Amino acid sequence: MNAHALSERLFYQNPWLQEADAVIKAIEYGAADASAAKSGVESLRVLLDMTVFYPEGGGQPPDTGFIDDLRVIDVQEIDGHIWHFVELPRNLSSPLKPGDRVHLRIDWQRRLDHMQQHTGQHLLSAVLEQEYGIHTLSFHLGTEYSTIDVSAKNPEELPLPDIEAKIEDWIACDASVLVHYCPPEDIAAFKLRKKPPADEAVIRVVEIEGYDWSPCGGTHVERTGQLRAIKILSLERYKGNVRVYFAAGSRAVRLLSATYEETKKTASALGVGIGGISARVFDILGKIAALERALKKSTQTWAAAEAKLAASQAAPHEMLEFRLDEEGADSAAELAKAAAALGRAAIAISLSDKTIIIQVPQVAGFLSLAGMLKPKLAEFGGKGGGGPAFFRASFSSESELARFAEEAKQALAALSD
Ligand SMILES: [Zn+2]
Repeated sequence: MNAHALSERLFYQNPWLQEADAVIKAIEYGAADASAAKSGVESLRVLLDMTVFYPEGGGQPPDTGFIDDLRVIDVQEIDGHIWHFVELPRNLSSPLKPGDRVHLRIDWQRRLDHMQQHTGQHLLSAVLEQEYGIHTLSFHLGTEYSTIDVSAKNPEELPLPDIEAKIEDWIACDASVLVHYCPPEDIAAFKLRKKPPADEAVIRVVEIEGYDWSPCGGTHVERTGQLRAIKILSLERYKGNVRVYFAAGSRAVRLLSATYEETKKTASALGVGIGGISARVFDILGKIAALERALKKSTQTWAAAEAKLAASQAAPHEMLEFRLDEEGADSAAELAKAAAALGRAAIAISLSDKTIIIQVPQVAGFLSLAGMLKPKLAEFGGKGGGGPAFFRASFSSESELARFAEEAKQALAALSD
């Protein structure tokens, strides 16, 4: 940047400045962004003699806010100029014109959040670099969480409790976050964590006092204590490196608080203290697995008895039909399977799951069930499939299920004639 750019960028002189007056230098119409066009408002872009609005850059999103009563939805630096994209109700010509003096106001909660995430990233990257030799490759500031991609190859290389403890020490000692403006020829005086930008008249260096120096054009808090907290949320492998998810500042505090409330509710529902949640959940999962095994076994026993009874009451080659009001599709499938094991073709319907299962004994050497029934499915709005001796389909209504079942029965009866 040049010295002129610095004087018009009030967010560099004082990142805590939320409002200011400025004079309009230029206005351009028809520069609506995609979201403005969709929401039925037109947009214009405004150039000012000075601004409190930070333009998107260096991984930090743009500020939003107001110029007088008009909403600023985006701020971009284009060819060295900061353009403010303003929402304008349709068919209303701009109340702004060049030479006007206007009042600027940024959405402060949003900016402060960005300053905390951004400075939090500096501190997290500094600790990884200084203590573990892990370099930061990129940074993204998101609406829910932020991420950095780092040079580690797998997540185990990052000892989380240690890293968080070191970060906490830096927050607790409330170190200064300093800003230096340095001509490129003197930049070697700083032990920079990453390469400075080329072709800049002045390089801006952000320092965590005596610990970390990074070339950066973003906005930052003034002391590490203003970060309040940093929480590393998760680590994942990403394109051969590791992606670190984190939250800083009020965002981290809110997240930890919400998580704690949710955890308390979970512990209370499980009838244990917070420390006992995982043991209780594993215990419950083990019991569910055992119950599922026992249920499957007793369903099979029940299905075998039902199939045997139905077979004894039907004519020798008659297809067996089962209609379950309460039981689900898995029970219907067991009935059809048990009937097939007795050498009988069967149709089993679960009304609660609106599902039909058709199974024939493997020995019935006719056309594939799926080949015959699948083409009819679409007509009844059903979804499903199967193979030579098995077909299963679900429907969105009972009447469609009943009509399909009738059609399937007739098709099967025609085959066995
Ligand atoms: Zn920065």
